[in-house]
Amino acid sequence: MDKPWFNEFITNALLVVVFGALVYSLGNAFAGIALGLFIGMFRLYQQLRKYSDWLGRGGRLKEHNQDFGVIDDLHHRTFYLQKRHLEKTQNLGRIIKRFQDSTRAMPDAVIMLNQRNEVEWLNKAAKKLIGLKSNKDVGQNISNLIRHPDFMRYVMREDFNFPIEIPSPINEAIHVRIRIVPYGDNSRLMVIRDITKLTNLENMRQEFIASTSHELRTPLTVITGYLESIHDLKIKDGQNIISAMLNQAHRMESIIKDMLHLTRLESLQKHLERNRKPVQIRPMLDSLQSEAQALGSWTHDIEMDIDPTLNLVANETELYSVFSNLVNNALRYTPTDSKIKVSWQRYKQGARYIVEDNGPGIAQEHLSRLTERFYRVDIDRSRNTGGTGLGLAIVKQIMKQHDGQILIESKQGKGSKFICEFPQHLITGTDNPDLKIVGS
Ligand code: ADP
Repeated sequence: MDKPWFNEFITNALLVVVFGALVYSLGNAFAGIALGLFIGMFRLYQQLRKYSDWLGRGGRLKEHNQDFGVIDDLHHRTFYLQKRHLEKTQNLGRIIKRFQDSTRAMPDAVIMLNQRNEVEWLNKAAKKLIGLKSNKDVGQNISNLIRHPDFMRYVMREDFNFPIEIPSPINEAIHVRIRIVPYGDNSRLMVIRDITKLTNLENMRQEFIASTSHELRTPLTVITGYLESIHDLKIKDGQNIISAMLNQAHRMESIIKDMLHLTRLESLQKHLERNRKPVQIRPMLDSLQSEAQALGSWTHDIEMDIDPTLNLVANETELYSVFSNLVNNALRYTPTDSKIKVSWQRYKQGARYIVEDNGPGIAQEHLSRLTERFYRVDIDRSRNTGGTGLGLAIVKQIMKQHDGQILIESKQGKGSKFICEFPQHLITGTDNPDLKIVGS
């Protein structure tokens, strides 16, 4: 037993003994003990009350306060607990301050949001990049502060796996990349980076490719025209040379056509998004199948597994381009008599278009690079079958514009599987093209 409590025990025991003996001498020992206990309890009560009053007045804890008698022991222990707690809080405060100082000094804007997307804290760069200020914008919902439709959609969908890029709300010339990172208990960290230089460079690259392709197209059309005329003359000598030249000219035309397609996809992203409308997939895949067969592919065994009730809101022309590119590749890169399975089905996060073949397959080391421009596994086969090396890059870009992705699985000697995943919010439910969008 601790010393103060031992002393208190002895004091109370003495009180009981003294009063017991006193009243016993008057003839009633029981009443004496009861009186001794009562006085002991009364002392304790007074000390507790003093302590409670003092706490009620907001008294500051100190190491000792003799006024509280034995309760001082409690007070003393509370004092040490509070001291430890204070040290921890101060330490935490110092860490938070260091974190805030470092994020304040960052060139990227950092904004802390709560689970309702209300601004809790922001650094200085938030003012420079998107015009937010702590004194007026803390507590506001972020969707009321950044009104760009892409951003509002991003926040609403709550799919923060990818960042978005938009012009700054205070200056159209500044381009920012916004990424929301969920952390802790439903809080969010929003990081905004100035990507103006990068965007300008990218625009320059796209413009360069687009104008070069345009410039090349006109002389090439003239050359092809003359070559075709010479070819039609069926001159005895040199007919093979003319045919080869014509073939190469047609190949160049296809490359230029695909390059223009790709740059158009990259530069007109927003415009293409606005051109989305409900598309019925079944008829589209039916016509794709007839086209593939008309192209002389009867020798391939094409199996279709289509959910006729599953439709999409999409850019119809581009969607057809995705579907046909993958089927054409399967026809071109697999031997005749190979099996090709085309399926269009729901899965838990949306819809999947899958083209699977049992052809030669692709070695693992190529898989991650197949969607790069001009990347080909077998250049000769690609050329001989009229490939440009841009087909899968175009597919990837179109999928990106439909908030989806392309996945490639393959095993050498077994075959390949190209999977296009479309998100839930683009799915429409039945055959009726006028129906409303589900899940958006
Ligand atoms: P290309 O115009 O050369 O076909 P793509 O971008 O469409 O360009 O395809 C890139 C490369 O991926 C092709 O050159 C080919 O080597 C490979 N590839 C695509 N589809 C298949 C497939 N189904 N089976 C085997 N290889 C394929």
